[in-house]
Amino acid sequence: MKALQYQRISEPPVLTTVEDPEPGPGQVLLEVTAAGACHSDFAVMGMTAQQLRFPLPLTLGHEGVGTVAALGEGAGGVQVGESVAVYGPWGCGVCHNCAQGKENYCLRADREGIFPPGLGAPGAMAEYLLVDDARHLVPLGDLDPVTTAPLTDAGLTPYHAVKLSVPKLVAGTTAVVIGTGGLGHIGIQLLRAMTPARVVALDVAEEKLELARNVGAHEALLSDTKAADRIRELTEGQGATAVLDFVGVPPTTALAGQSVGIEGDVTLVGIGGGSLPVGFGILPYETTVRSPYWGSRSELEEVLALARRGVLDIHVERFPLDEAPRAYELLHEGKVNGRAVMVP
Ligand code: NAD
Ligand code: ZN
Repeated sequence: MKALQYQRISEPPVLTTVEDPEPGPGQVLLEVTAAGACHSDFAVMGMTAQQLRFPLPLTLGHEGVGTVAALGEGAGGVQVGESVAVYGPWGCGVCHNCAQGKENYCLRADREGIFPPGLGAPGAMAEYLLVDDARHLVPLGDLDPVTTAPLTDAGLTPYHAVKLSVPKLVAGTTAVVIGTGGLGHIGIQLLRAMTPARVVALDVAEEKLELARNVGAHEALLSDTKAADRIRELTEGQGATAVLDFVGVPPTTALAGQSVGIEGDVTLVGIGGGSLPVGFGILPYETTVRSPYWGSRSELEEVLALARRGVLDIHVERFPLDEAPRAYELLHEGKVNGRAVMVP
C-alpha cells in the first residue's frame, strides 16, 4: 500500500510503498478514508536521533478516520464496513488514568513503549491503518470523514483545553485564542459553543484573521507587540479570563502572560519551545498556567456529538495522498487555511 513516511532525520516525508498490514489478535484494520496533517509532525521531524524515542521510518498521520476492513482474532465492538474515528493517544488501558478514559495521560505508555499512530506507531497517512484495540474507535455515523478527521486532534485538543476554563468563562468575560490555524479555528468555535465569553483571536496572517472572524471570533487582531495593549483596552484594563496559545513560541507565551487577568487561565497548547515563568508578582494574582496534551476518549465522543449538532464548521483543504508531501510544505509555510486533510 501507499504510505507517507518520515524516513530520515530532518528530511521531508516521502510517499512510498510498504507491505499491507494484517490485523493480529485484538487488532482492527481500517481502510483510511481521511487523515489530517498536524503542525506537531514538524516537532517530531525536528527532533535529533537522540530525542526520538522510536525507530524510523515512521508512517505519519495521527488524525485518522476510516472504514473497518477486517477484525483480528478476538476483536469485537465494531462491524466490518463501519465508519469510525481513531482516538489517537493510546495508553495501556488498565492504569488509573486509562481507567478514567484519560489514555492521553497513561501512566505506563512510556515504560511499555506504547505510541500513538503517526507519533511512533504506523499512522493514518496510508491506505490502511492498524488500530491496536477497538476501544480506540468512535463510530462516525453520518459524519463526513474528511471534515471529521481533524476533530480527532485539532478538535479534541482545544475541546479539552476549553473545557478546563469553562467554569470561569461566564458572561462578560473574554477568551483569547492565539494562532487560528488547524487547532485555533476549531478552538474559537468551541469557545462560542461551550461558553458565553467574548472571543478575541490573534494571528500573524490576514487570511487567518479572516477565517477567525468567519468561524465566530468577535474580534480578530494581529499578533504583534501592540496586541497585549489592545486586549487590555478591550477588557477595560482587566485582561482576559482565559488565554489559549495554539502557537507556543516565546513571543506568544509572553503575550499570553501579558494578556491574562487576575485568577485567569493561560493554557499553552502549542509546542513551539516557549515558556512562561510563574512566581509572585510575575503574573496577575492566582493565574493558572498549564500545558495539556490531547484529550480523553470520552471527550472525543463529546466533540463528535457537538459536530453532529451541526455547530462546528471545519475548514479543510483536501489533498490526494500522492500530494501529501506538498501539503506538508504548505503547512510548514503557514499557507494552509484550516486543516490539510489527505484522502487516499
Ligand atoms: P497550524 O500551522 O495549523 O496553525 C498555527 C497558526 O499559528 C497559523 O495560523 C499561524 O499563522 C499562526 N501563528 C504563527 N506564529 C504566530 C504568532 N507569533 N502569533 C499568532 N499566530 C501565529 O498548526 P496546528 O496544527 O493548529 O498546531 C498548533 C500548535 O499546537 C503546534 O505547535 C502543534 O504542535 C501544537 N499541538 C499541540 C497539541 C497538544 O496536545 N498540546 C496537539 C496538537 C497540536
Ligand atoms: Zn494507562
